[in-house]
Amino acid sequence: MRPADREDRVGLCLHCRHARVVRSRTDQDYYRCGRSDDDGRYSKYPRLPMLSCDGYDPGEPDRPHRRSGRR
Ligand code: SF4
Repeated sequence: MRPADREDRVGLCLHCRHARVVRSRTDQDYYRCGRSDDDGRYSKYPRLPMLSCDGYDPGEPDRPHRRSGRR
């Protein structure tokens, strides 16, 4: 996926330090919001693209990690 396409698809979460990237077995990335762990105002898996968010904090998301579990 081209970087510009990812920007359009993900929005603010792409550059937020609270984002946690979860990579599926099919190499699809899902963005989990770390703020949702202790603040109910945030969705665990925000609807993307995220165009406006009060919790946005510029930075690098956690690196992708594989979703655990069995098939
Ligand atoms: S705080 Fe907002 S911008 Fe940051 S990861 Fe959560 S939903 Fe995305």
